[in-house]
Amino acid sequence: MWIPAHKNIPGDEKADIAAKEASTNINIPKIDLTSFKDTARNALKSSKMIHQRLWDQELNNKLYQIKPLLIPNPNPPSSTRRQQVIWTRMKIGHTNITHIHLMRREPRPNCELCNNAPISTAHLLLECPNLTEQRKIFPHLTLKDILSIDNFNYLITFLKISNLYNRI
Ligand SMILES: [Zn+2]
Repeated sequence: MWIPAHKNIPGDEKADIAAKEASTNINIPKIDLTSFKDTARNALKSSKMIHQRLWDQELNNKLYQIKPLLIPNPNPPSSTRRQQVIWTRMKIGHTNITHIHLMRREPRPNCELCNNAPISTAHLLLECPNLTEQRKIFPHLTLKDILSIDNFNYLITFLKISNLYNRI
């Protein structure tokens, strides 16, 4: 492509010389020109890696035991909105039956089924002696397994046959 010279415009010859020097000078740092989309994608990826690294230090956090990887949770297939809410509440351990005392400004009560331990979702799912029979439907007995998407239907069934479903 032919570009007309700037011979008749004052200062443009100096600009031409500077441009030629710049194009041949290897000491001038090259700017990595990436698209905005690439930059945004890299920033998001870095942010997620930093968040995961921080989350990996929360080994004693009860939520870390359930969800060590910070990836989006798909909803269980064929689940209703109510079931999804129940599943989420069970996973975070905050349900009506385990936390209603906070609304009433009362101390944490014992499990009303056995009265042997403070009530919690882990107690209901793993320990309560009054739910031993109902608990037999679970193919696995770790809290993480019970609350996994693979065992979602078992969890819903367990809550229904334990008469806990409407209290979550
Ligand atoms: Zn109990």
